[in-house]
Amino acid sequence: MGEPQFDADGDFIGYIGSTVDITEQRKDATELERTNEQLNRTAREITWLNELNDHLQVCKTIDETVPILKRYGGLLFPDASVSIGLISESRNVVEPFVSWGESATLNRMFSPHECWALRRGKPHIESPCESGSLCPNTKTCSIKFGYACIPMIAYGEVLGVMNVCFHNKGIEDETRGGLNSCLAKTTADQTALAIANLKLRETLQHQSTRDPLTQLYNRRFLLDNLDREVCRAKRDGNTVAVLMLDIDHFKRFNDTYGHEAGDIVLREVGSLLRQSVRSVDLPCRYGGEEFMIVLVDTDEASGIARAEDIRKKVSKLAIELGRKPLGNVTASIGLSFYPSDADTIEKMISTADQALYAAKAAGRNRVVEFRSMVSKGNETSSKVVSASALPHVGFGSNQGLSGIVN
Ligand code: GH3
Ligand code: MG
Ligand code: MG
Repeated sequence: MGEPQFDADGDFIGYIGSTVDITEQRKDATELERTNEQLNRTAREITWLNELNDHLQVCKTIDETVPILKRYGGLLFPDASVSIGLISESRNVVEPFVSWGESATLNRMFSPHECWALRRGKPHIESPCESGSLCPNTKTCSIKFGYACIPMIAYGEVLGVMNVCFHNKGIEDETRGGLNSCLAKTTADQTALAIANLKLRETLQHQSTRDPLTQLYNRRFLLDNLDREVCRAKRDGNTVAVLMLDIDHFKRFNDTYGHEAGDIVLREVGSLLRQSVRSVDLPCRYGGEEFMIVLVDTDEASGIARAEDIRKKVSKLAIELGRKPLGNVTASIGLSFYPSDADTIEKMISTADQALYAAKAAGRNRVVEFRSMVSKGNETSSKVVSASALPHVGFGSNQGLSGIVN
């Protein structure tokens, strides 16, 4: 501050004033501004982390987390390339799961042993360094500003790793006071917990809908979904085919070769059925050695062809126990259609069952259509739409067991 001074003639002769050194004040103001910025940034990060968490909590599948991670990950790490790799079911390989930022830093499969973070079970943070990285996964990423590999652990299980490569101020950005690595760790922890919960959910869902031996749907799942399929068929005017399949003389097979060999047969038939139908169809283990297959939107000709195809394939299954061939099994199939044979679920099951019974009575290893029984007006003498050229072969016909009388 100064005041101009003038002589008697009014000419300017100078200023009289005082000065204050405000260098420190300026520094304080700059520091305050920076701290404010930092606080604002941290407040935003807390909001994003909460939103990330909220969204992850309501995901129904692991795949649903991908766009959420990309969106909030991009906000949380604007100056970084981030990748998440998940350990496979076999636990011997880490597979790329999701990436965002300039480049995918985990863009290949690798063994968990190649990763320092996974090997040590704790975050592996490398400071900026020109001489090269310890981690083989960061080859694609400049380590000029350092990087962090955070193991993703939940419920004591290591699920994968999150790799964060910074492009700008880096992992040790002093202005962030170490917050970058802290943020990476929190994001990795939240994501790991969400993925662990989703894996658990998927496992429980699988267990509650599948038969553990054959991996086919269980009866409860089939009945719940059959209801929906019937409603859909009614609305669209479509036909649904129901196949009831029963392995012939399975008790004898068990008695001859043992329960373990019997289980192999059930597993093989299950695998065959899964491969023989479309993803929209419902192949199910109905109970014991009985299977029900619902073919949606399938007319009579296609239903018969599919049933016949399955019957033939079952008879050609090469069953082995410890590399020892056990001979063949055969199956009988009863077939009915919605809505022409039955207009309710109960009737669909019962008509397919009656046709199966007729197939058994007619000599097994054959497909019988329910409608042929009705047209004859006799539900026990059915029309056989197919049968093996052999008389009943049952199981083990190659093993000297043919000729068994039904
Ligand atoms: P049919 O040709 O009339 O169907 O005769 P079957 O011997 O196949 O029918 P039965 O109902 O007399 O016997 C079914 C057998 O299936 C008896 C049971 O021990 C066996 N079984 C049921 N569930 C399993 C299973 O999970 N594993 C094994 N190994 N056997 C099973
Ligand atoms: Mg049977
Ligand atoms: Mg049976």
